[in-house]
Amino acid sequence: MKPLDPRDPLVGMTITELERAMMSLGEKPFRGRQIADWIYAHGIASFGEMTNLPLPMRTHLEEHFRVGSLEERGRRETPDRRTRKVAYALDDGGLIESVYMSTTRRYTFCLSSQQGCGFACRFCATGRMGRGRNLTSGEIVEQALRLRRELPPGQKEFNVVFMGMGEPLENYDAVMRALDLITGPHGLHVPTKRITISTVGLVPQILRLASEGRRYRLAISLHAATDDLRSKLMPVNRTFPLEPLMRAVRTHIERVGERVTFEYILIEEINDTLADAAKLVRLVGQLPCRVNLIPYNPIGPGRFRRPSPERIQRFVDHLGPRVPAVTVRYSQGVEIGAACGQLAGEKEIALR
Ligand code: SAH
Repeated sequence: MKPLDPRDPLVGMTITELERAMMSLGEKPFRGRQIADWIYAHGIASFGEMTNLPLPMRTHLEEHFRVGSLEERGRRETPDRRTRKVAYALDDGGLIESVYMSTTRRYTFCLSSQQGCGFACRFCATGRMGRGRNLTSGEIVEQALRLRRELPPGQKEFNVVFMGMGEPLENYDAVMRALDLITGPHGLHVPTKRITISTVGLVPQILRLASEGRRYRLAISLHAATDDLRSKLMPVNRTFPLEPLMRAVRTHIERVGERVTFEYILIEEINDTLADAAKLVRLVGQLPCRVNLIPYNPIGPGRFRRPSPERIQRFVDHLGPRVPAVTVRYSQGVEIGAACGQLAGEKEIALR
């Protein structure tokens, strides 16, 4: 475990907070604006690079603050480098993972919102870690800043998905604060439509998102179309069953005016039969939505298996004409343990 650093990180602070931090050092407030520019617009990682600040001021800053708080502890990359899983150590020693994903068309950063996860979905590796702690908004923003440095030169656009470790809506305030910075004009300036929040289905928070009119894309981890099966796969369904969940989703669609994505892992014999497909159509077919089918990614020993391509196709064929949009997402990075559900703060990558 690394020794605790008493200096506050600046990453995660808004312009106003940075101005105040500068005043606390006896500096002029406009310095805060300059620092925000270095950190969020230019993405620099050290005070030494802030070349428009006088040298003594950089030293002074260094004594009282640090830029960020995450420490890279290891990474795994696919041979083509299109998928990169990076492990970061938090101040208190915990590990989180973030994933950089690229195709010829787009770049997507998959961020963690918590260290560990308390929802214990049966198919998910993070769910086996148990509840950890909420990440701070700074720790969330810093993941995006660090992954942005991985982009090829000249590439400015990227998407952000909260599909890493943890349940973003359980850490609502920090995630929204982080998103204010990620989307803000003085922050990373990412358009809201490029942000997706994925949730196990926390009804009160979905309603809160709707009432606050935040135009982020919403993805619901559905995975089953009946309460009986969903409660077995996802214990959270006992607290928020399908009926109130779907009502909240409808409210969100009405208020925000965007279609919602339903994620549905396909697990052989568990939820991939034609009867399951028919139930799914009945549940979501009338809504403006996209169904994202994710063939199950193995997470170690267990009785779950990924269906054959034929079974997957049969499911897709049934849904195709009956729901507004269907996609099959073959997760990137399965071979490096970076795919959906496989993030678990592995100690071994930390040791490399
Ligand atoms: N807690 C949020 C954010 C994590 S998202 C949520 O559950 O939505 C991670 C996505 O990967 C979710 O849709 C999750 O259900 C899915 N997933 C989890 N384990 C998986 C596995 N073994 N194979 C494929 N997808 C998985």
